Amino acid sequence: MNNAPWSRLRLRRTEHLRDMLAETSFGSANLIQPVFVVDGMTGSEPVPGLGETARHGPSDALRAIARDVAAGVRHYMLFSVPSEKGTHGLSFRHLGRAVSAIKKEFGDAVHLWVDICLCSSTSHGHCAILDEAGGIDLDATLDALGQAAAEAADAGADGVAPSDMMDGRVAHIRGALDAAGHRHVPIMSYSTKFASQFYGPFRGAADSAPQHGNRRHYQIDVRSRLDAIGSSIRCAEEGADLLMVKPAMTSIDLIAPIVEATGVPTGAFQVSGEYAGLLALAEKGFADFDAALLETLYVLRRAGAAFIVTYGARKARALGLP
Ligand SMILES: [Zn+2]
Repeated sequence: MNNAPWSRLRLRRTEHLRDMLAETSFGSANLIQPVFVVDGMTGSEPVPGLGETARHGPSDALRAIARDVAAGVRHYMLFSVPSEKGTHGLSFRHLGRAVSAIKKEFGDAVHLWVDICLCSSTSHGHCAILDEAGGIDLDATLDALGQAAAEAADAGADGVAPSDMMDGRVAHIRGALDAAGHRHVPIMSYSTKFASQFYGPFRGAADSAPQHGNRRHYQIDVRSRLDAIGSSIRCAEEGADLLMVKPAMTSIDLIAPIVEATGVPTGAFQVSGEYAGLLALAEKGFADFDAALLETLYVLRRAGAAFIVTYGARKARALGLP
């Protein structure tokens, strides 16, 4: 190590030197833009707290994606919000309709991941089907998740991304996809997902706030490290092709250990509360939003995230990211 006086200051002095020696880079190919499609809605409405992010009716979503595609945004995570909710016998036809409309319009110009969970579909807002005592009915939940994944794949989804945190769901979804002839469709598992205060704006967008209780009996306790890493290991063993930590910034220490333990590419979801926090800082004049966004994305890449799901994917592209 060169510990001579000035040696570090010299190398940080000009932008050329800082760029030349930067150890971390990323481009739009690493970023995934969430898109909310609300079945039966016309037009769009903004999502409070998330800046330019909107909830779109199905045809408005196509117009929005067309603008994004023209700007070079390729990777999307679809959240399909049904117009009807229930407790059992859920239908996922809205999901199939949304996926096939997007894939028919854009084909391979977009790479479409589909979030698979039940919380937008259940009237109680939990990510599971509940039994009569209010506990999780795991078998019924897994069957519904498999059905949703197959519906998305039948409609042309490029990948499915289960976010529910139920035990055994990756293996079950893999089985359902394979049985439906979709061996080629990858599973990106939300494999280390914490119970968190940072999901607030999303729950409005996906209409998925729990009507009673909370999700601490299936999401991971933020104080746990072994449970958090183990959860991703289990998903990898069940056949997940990609893993993910969520929220991104509060999981940053876990990405490298998960990759090391599993050998599976692992990404991070910069969740709605994190993104809203950046916007709020900028609104108060405490930060430059564009620079703050890029700072967080660089840090996630530095920590080893193979990909980042972020409400800022569109924005990062607009900032001149390759
Ligand atoms: Zn959910």
